Amino acid sequence: MTAEILGREIVIVDRRGRRICRPLLSGFVCPKCGEVLKAYFKTDEPVDIGQQESRTYGQEQFRSLIVTGGQALISETHREYGGLCDLKIYWAPSLRHNLSAWLRKHQPDRSCDTYDVGLTQVMAQRVPGLVPIPDVIGGDVCLLGFDDQAWCPAWDHRSESYEEWNERVEETKNEKLTQLGVVSET
Ligand SMILES: [Zn+2]
Repeated sequence: MTAEILGREIVIVDRRGRRICRPLLSGFVCPKCGEVLKAYFKTDEPVDIGQQESRTYGQEQFRSLIVTGGQALISETHREYGGLCDLKIYWAPSLRHNLSAWLRKHQPDRSCDTYDVGLTQVMAQRVPGLVPIPDVIGGDVCLLGFDDQAWCPAWDHRSESYEEWNERVEETKNEKLTQLGVVSET
């Protein structure tokens, strides 16, 4: 089974190769691997997505939920690290909540009075590694993708010591946090 968003429709191809198109109510696509993250679509009869196997070990690719007015598919492979794609998704409905959850988790010693600067910067894609994921249908919900590789440069052990690399990691982080308008807690 595959699911793909084409324009304002979701196209599901089931195991028997049947192509099922339904109008989307909202939809989010992973900017890194292109998989559908979450799709909510209108349907009179639930679409049977059947037993599916994703490209990762025995894990289902989607969870299917019957919801008012339709059906929702939610990617299972993006819920944790280690799936097909290592972009970590924050699922809250507002980008502000996602950014604040990200900050609490990854920079607990930092604080931010207002996320206005950060939101503007993330929306403008000025902070590599923090990616806004808007609704393809244009709704207000915006998810957040976090690529920690962009926040943690690889250690080039031939040209720098471990301490130098640590410093570089710290610098990269501080640079990005300044871009986000986040300050150290004093
Ligand atoms: Zn992905």
